[in-house]
Amino acid sequence: MILAPLLAAVLYTSQAAAQNVTVMTSTEDLAALVREVGGSRVRVESIARGYQDPHFVEAKPSFLLKLAKADLLVLVGLQLEVGWLPPLITQSRNSKIQVGAPGYLDASTVVQILEKPTGPVTRAMGDVHPLGNPHYWLDPQNGRRIAQAIQQKLSQLDPPGAAAYARQYQDFDRRLADAEKRWDAEMAPLKGAEVVTYHNSWPSFAERFGLQVVGYVEPKPGIPPTPSHTLAVIQQIRQDNIKLILVEPYFDEKTPQAIARQTGAKVLVMLPSVGGEPEVKDYFQLFDYNIRLLKTALQQ
Ligand SMILES: [Zn+2]
Repeated sequence: MILAPLLAAVLYTSQAAAQNVTVMTSTEDLAALVREVGGSRVRVESIARGYQDPHFVEAKPSFLLKLAKADLLVLVGLQLEVGWLPPLITQSRNSKIQVGAPGYLDASTVVQILEKPTGPVTRAMGDVHPLGNPHYWLDPQNGRRIAQAIQQKLSQLDPPGAAAYARQYQDFDRRLADAEKRWDAEMAPLKGAEVVTYHNSWPSFAERFGLQVVGYVEPKPGIPPTPSHTLAVIQQIRQDNIKLILVEPYFDEKTPQAIARQTGAKVLVMLPSVGGEPEVKDYFQLFDYNIRLLKTALQQ
């Protein structure tokens, strides 16, 4: 049989190609974008799971071993991971991924940031968004910018793969442009709709797709609901006749459900991240899922 050695050679080559760059990301959204651009040349894993609050992740020792072997670390930045990622980076003792090293990519440096502080930055008590809103990946235009930065970084770390990364980025860009047309059409009937959200996770999504976020169940980002703030939210929802309360999957639904009962608004569990539900496996499915949910809620 002449095929067997040939097949073995092919398998060996593709396997060797799969080992080129080992990437760790802080969140599953970034891992999904790395997968789009890196294809079979990269191995990528996320530290946080998509169903976890990315502000508060348990820094397990097992992550250290993985970070120690990484060629590249991609993170959200803007202090989203400030409570758990910096000690992991330091303790990994991996010089490739230390802050400022070639294998350190802070995606916030390439995207459009909303709610940037204009004055001097004071970390107001409990406000976990002191440098601007870190949930910027929920605008597909930022997803595109992140993917492009990943393409450039991978090409730098793995020059023989540069052509493949460029091709895969272009393919992603084209599929994203097609999807954006579809999402725009689906979101058109919701244009201008006012919503209340639990955490301030959605400004980029809202701006991109024409929703208006007019209030939050949290009194401040990272601060749990208080009775007086909840009362104010109830009054606002009644006054402005707001129909939807968007809740991230990792928050207790008790307060939003109580608000819903008193106002007739509906609670929607929207996913801020890939992996928020098992069926949401990539960056496209994340928007597909959320937009389908919003559309269905509006039709009811
Ligand atoms: Zn946040």
